[in-house]
Amino acid sequence: MNNFNYLRADDTEHAVALIGKETNSRFLAGGTNLIDRWKYNLTHPDTLIDLANIEELHQITETENGGLRLGAMAGNADTAYHPLVKKRYPLLKNTILAGASAQIRNAATNGGNLMQRTRCYYYYDHESPCNKRNPGSGCPATEGHNRLHAVIGHSENCIATHPSDMCIALAALDAVVQVTGAEGNRSIPFTEFHRLPGNNPSKDNTLRPGELITSIDLPAEGFAENYSYLKLRDRNSYAFALVSVATGLRLKDSKIEKANIAVGGIAHKPWRVQEAEDFLKNKRPDRDNFAQAAEIIMDGAEGFEHNAFKIPLTKRAIIRNGMMALNPQETQRPGAGPSR
Ligand code: SF4
Repeated sequence: MNNFNYLRADDTEHAVALIGKETNSRFLAGGTNLIDRWKYNLTHPDTLIDLANIEELHQITETENGGLRLGAMAGNADTAYHPLVKKRYPLLKNTILAGASAQIRNAATNGGNLMQRTRCYYYYDHESPCNKRNPGSGCPATEGHNRLHAVIGHSENCIATHPSDMCIALAALDAVVQVTGAEGNRSIPFTEFHRLPGNNPSKDNTLRPGELITSIDLPAEGFAENYSYLKLRDRNSYAFALVSVATGLRLKDSKIEKANIAVGGIAHKPWRVQEAEDFLKNKRPDRDNFAQAAEIIMDGAEGFEHNAFKIPLTKRAIIRNGMMALNPQETQRPGAGPSR
């Protein structure tokens, strides 16, 4: 029997004050990963601070700079089907709908999606050592079953991957995470929100203790004309990505003016490489140029016994997704390919 306290926050200031006061406390959003991990005995909060009553966190609103603010407590399904997301950020819509199941998307929240932890099998298995669960105990995945694991950005301490689909689009879209805490508000560029494992794999992100995600802000540009999400997985629904790619292109005079490419399933965080995107500027959007960008993106990749296949697979996925982004009306409709 796990005894715990259950508190409801009235507003964000109240939530921050409660988490500062209650020892071993956690914010409760949709609970789809927190409760799972609790059942697996991976977390044991003494106090849950429910955010459901904080109305402002549920809102999806336009921002002064022409972007869109996604409240941290807005549901993943509500976000995907929001008229402005469907119209202006279809890349985000498609990544959300490629993840989990309809029931989970109904319960899961935007802030919670960012906070979900790896699905590395060893992390969930208390019989196994795991540096993320028990720092200093070791990482059996490096020599064990590592089909789902990272091929880039990993360390000898952890080769886990980040599991979210939605976060791959948010990285590609240059989203910004808004947070509040005891020291005030701050903005974190999405590509700096999640971190690589390094020598501290127990820490997934750059939030400071007690900080609360309030929203995720999208810039005005949503790449609604030329975008694509390609998710490759072992089965066609309710499975995490082996490799996924989110691509947004701005084209002018048959050339690439701007290319944003984020890759999932291969690293501890959504993987973006500025050098590759710079390479594509003023180039034609063709297979050869996407292939050269893919080589730059995967530079330094190093696989393990069961996942080395991800390296050539990712390169092919980047090329294919770049070409798919040229014709999203055809490639991104439901049932059009492996991403649906
Ligand atoms: Fe733990 Fe990371 Fe190793 Fe998995 S890959 S066993 S999460 S340390």
